[in-house]
This record gives sequence, structure tokens and C-alpha cells, in this order.
Amino acid sequence: MAGVLARYRRSLVERTKHHLGYPYNLDFEYGALSQLQHFSINNLGDPFIESNYGVHSRQFEVGVLDWFARLWDLEKDEYWGYITNCGTEGNLHGILVGREVFPDGILYASRDSHYSVFKAARMYRMDCVKVDTLVSGEIDCADFGRKLLENKDKPAIINVNIGTTVKGAVDDLDLVIETLEKSGFKDRFYIHCDGALFGLMMPFVKQAPRVSFKKPIGSVSVSGHKFVGCPMPCGVQITRKGYKGFQKEVQKCLRNAHYLKDRLKDAGISAMLNELSSTVVFERPKDEEFVRRWQLACEGSISHVVVMPSVTVDKLDTFLNELVEKRVTWYQEGKCQSPCIAADVGQENCLCTLHKT
Ligand SMILES: *Cc1c(COP(=O)(O)O)cnc(C)c1O
Repeated sequence: MAGVLARYRRSLVERTKHHLGYPYNLDFEYGALSQLQHFSINNLGDPFIESNYGVHSRQFEVGVLDWFARLWDLEKDEYWGYITNCGTEGNLHGILVGREVFPDGILYASRDSHYSVFKAARMYRMDCVKVDTLVSGEIDCADFGRKLLENKDKPAIINVNIGTTVKGAVDDLDLVIETLEKSGFKDRFYIHCDGALFGLMMPFVKQAPRVSFKKPIGSVSVSGHKFVGCPMPCGVQITRKGYKGFQKEVQKCLRNAHYLKDRLKDAGISAMLNELSSTVVFERPKDEEFVRRWQLACEGSISHVVVMPSVTVDKLDTFLNELVEKRVTWYQEGKCQSPCIAADVGQENCLCTLHKT
């Protein structure tokens, strides 16, 4: 085993010396991070949604995303994004968002686009139109305009290359936008910028056209193991927060509401949560001071918490811990029993002495 690894290492050292053709920055030093290799760090898909899994790096992920968002002119609260496993995944995600915004949209991409773009078209069963390129490798906007006019009835989803794989050509984003607007596609297009290769370099090139969310683009992705030279494949994906943002917020509310309901029941407190709702109904706390402190709205023998985007798992935990602690004093040693609220929440949700089990 040790021999196999040593041979492999020698071959990697030798091959690293003679490496020119692929866009990977092999010049990195990540020693400081090696101490973190002993942990199963996992952000479970969305750095903005809290979960019970504590071995995560969400604070760092969000820090990285904030940096990229600013690079492309979006404020903290205007974007959603995540660290992907590569530039390919960023393209798959960006094009998917485009298709969600325009379900019947046609995907346009220049012939020199990365194969992951055409793979996305097949995966999502989208109509895909290949656009010619200039000798430089840039998208040919004359051909693009002609093809748009052939499909005037369908919205357009466009992959714009910030650095093509083979020729390193940067598509003219401004001309793409102008072509779309001139062809009558105003407000009927979605632009994904594939910045896997140069997305991170163009902001630092003075004469380069700016990739910026001040322009009508929907998403940008970059590859993390190319210019940055991350030792394992990774990437960054940033999308404008539009209704996708709302969708995320809604999902967060529903998830946190489930969390609250489950924890209430685990603590032996009667609770109900309707399927499409983020309102958790539970037994009215016996102490009016507690009710006032948490500003609970009560009706008869029930109370509720309405989980909105600002209600975090942390806040719910504080609330639950206090409630559980206080409740022991309210119903101590069976002197006084917890109330039956089956009439309000149904027998299956009631955990009074009669209905529990
Ligand atoms: C490399 C590359 C990709 C894919 O990035 P990976 O991180 O290798 O998945 C996508 N688009 C372009 C233009 C690329 O050069």
C-alpha cells in the first residue's frame, strides 16, 4: 500500500512539472486547511438554510459567496448561491434556473460552448439552438439575431461564455443583450454566464467588458479548481434573487415549522401543523407572562407560532427550551395535568394523558 502511494505521488510530481495544456492552477498551498480534512463537513445543499447537522462550514461558504456576489455587483440580500462541485454543475444549475423562469424557452449557445451546456439541454429536454462563432471563438451575434427571429414565439435562454474552453474567447455580453432587445426579446430572456474559465479573471482586466448583475443577467458560475487552483473540484454559482429567492424562503419556513412541530411533540406537547402551512398550533401556555414574553396569539386552549423567514432554528430552540423548562413547573408531578386539546388539533395530535400513545 505504502509503495503504491509513493509511486503514485512520484508520478504526480513528475506530471505536475510538465503541465501546460489544461487550465488548472497547480501552484497552490493549502497546508493550513489540511487539519480540516479529518471532518465530514457537509452543508446539505443550501448554505442559507439551517439544519441540525452541526459539522458544517456554512459561515465560510456564505463568506465566499458574498465575495463573489460583490465582484459581480450584487448586494448580500440580492443573491442566492452555493459552492458547487465544479463549473459543470454551475452550468447545469444556471440553465435550470433559466428553464424554471421560462419553461418553454429555447436554449441558445455558441458552437464553442463547453459540452456541459449541451448536456444540460439533453438532461432537461430543452430545445437547443447552436449559434455560429467568429474565428476568435466568440459568439456570432449576426447569426444569433437570425436564429432568434426564427423562434420569435419562444423566450430565449442564452449561455454566454466568459472564456471558451478551446480558444479562450470571451463572448460580447453587451452585444448579446443588444441583439436580444433589438430582436424583440425584451423581458423574455434569461442569460447564464459560463465563467468557469475566465469568470474570475475578467473583473481584473481593465479593458474587459464587465460581467455584472447591473446588466440583465440571471446567473454566473465559475470553476474553483481552475484559476483559484482548489485541490479538489469545486465551483461557485450565483443567481439573482427573484422569485427563486422567494421559493427558497418559503421552503425554509416550511422546514423550520416542521422542526418546531416535531420538537414540541418530542417534548410531549400537543401540536399540529397543516400540510401546506407554516403555522404550528399547540397547547396554550399556562402562564400569561410567558405568552406575553413570546408575543403568542392565543385562542381558547390553543396558541400558535407562525414561522416566517426571520424565525431561525436558533430562535425556535430558545423558545422550546424555555417552554419545556417552564412547563415542568406548570404541570409538575401530575398535580395538574396538561390540557386535552383534541377538539382543536385532532386526537392524533393531542398528547394529553387520555390521547397519548
Ligand atoms: C472547464 C470548463 C467548464 C467546466 O468546468 P469544470 O469545473 O471542469 O466542471 C465549463 N465551461 C468552460 C468554458 C470551461 O472551460
